[in-house]
Amino acid sequence: MQFQPIFPPHKRPILIAGPCSAETEEQVLATAHGLKNLQPDLFRAGIWKPRTRPGAFEGIGVPGLAWLQRVKEETGMKTTTEVANAQHVHECLQHGVDVLWIGARTTVNPFSVQEIADALAGTDIPVMVKNPVNPDYKLWVGAIERLYKAGLRRIAAIHRGFSTYGDSKYRNVPRWQMAIDLMEEFPGLEVICDISHICGRRDILAETAQKAYDLHFNGLMVEVHPEPDTAWSDAAQQITPVQFGQMTGALLQRSATSDDPDYLLKIENFRQQIDEFDEEIIHLIAQRMQMVREIGYVKKDKNIAIFQPERWRALADACRRRADKNELSREFIGLFLEAIHQEGINQQEKVMNQGVSTEVAAAGNLWMND
Ligand code: PEP
Ligand code: MN
Repeated sequence: MQFQPIFPPHKRPILIAGPCSAETEEQVLATAHGLKNLQPDLFRAGIWKPRTRPGAFEGIGVPGLAWLQRVKEETGMKTTTEVANAQHVHECLQHGVDVLWIGARTTVNPFSVQEIADALAGTDIPVMVKNPVNPDYKLWVGAIERLYKAGLRRIAAIHRGFSTYGDSKYRNVPRWQMAIDLMEEFPGLEVICDISHICGRRDILAETAQKAYDLHFNGLMVEVHPEPDTAWSDAAQQITPVQFGQMTGALLQRSATSDDPDYLLKIENFRQQIDEFDEEIIHLIAQRMQMVREIGYVKKDKNIAIFQPERWRALADACRRRADKNELSREFIGLFLEAIHQEGINQQEKVMNQGVSTEVAAAGNLWMND
């Protein structure tokens, strides 16, 4: 796919700012005037709001589109909002919204994405595609492909993190690698980081903005509200226009490398040590897997039930305690353990199923545990 840029080439970071939801005309205009001097590349505001549970504010709807037109007239900023169906697309096209975005809860559904793509065919309005709520890379790429097949070329991606259940400092865990994979696979695609929906809280926004900047995202999307605590949606993650200016003004531009010999020597030294650690880690994992296979043989021999939830719980608890003691995040250790566990299952499954027909083996695979 060959994309065309939506934003000024070489400008970094691209900035998209504005409230989670358009609430009232006054609130939208107050935010826009607060941002005017910073001239973000786009002014965002949700007009139709997909809410997780019913009863929350579900967006102001079509009247809010006229407020976006006023924002543009009074401040010169281009506008963007979320569309979730063909009707939203038609309303936005009629009201001169400059850029559309597809939300995370829509990207998961190919029927909805196709409906939007069909409604957009024949136009050349820019569209940004958020990642789906679940970490499914192909679904994200699939949504981009549907728009591309409808003839659109000005397409960008927005990384907003992934839903998770359990401990995390983030509202939506970033799984940065998935965005990095997207950048690598599609070098011409602009990728924006929506730090507000990743963080879900304002105290870690600045560090996450810097991280996204260091990871070479093209830009940031940030929820900005004149009185964040009173916001009708996502209050805990919104910041004021002044805070937005301070945060983006403080972003450090880091260079790719340095030719200082002292720096080069230190880096080389540390990298060598890291390579040695990696070798040790892989060796240890291989030894652990050998043990897992041994257990497989013993269980098979004695015809012992394989699923042992207490064992898995105890192991996970012990690892969490060790993670805390060693200043490793529980999130990281959780992902690491899951990967190790999965590989253990794969290895044990081979042992347990030796000489068993494939159908029976597949049924047995569900409940294996070391
Ligand atoms: C939003 O940007 O306000 C929004 C609803 O985001 P997401 O689709 O990422 O949840
Ligand atoms: Mn929001």
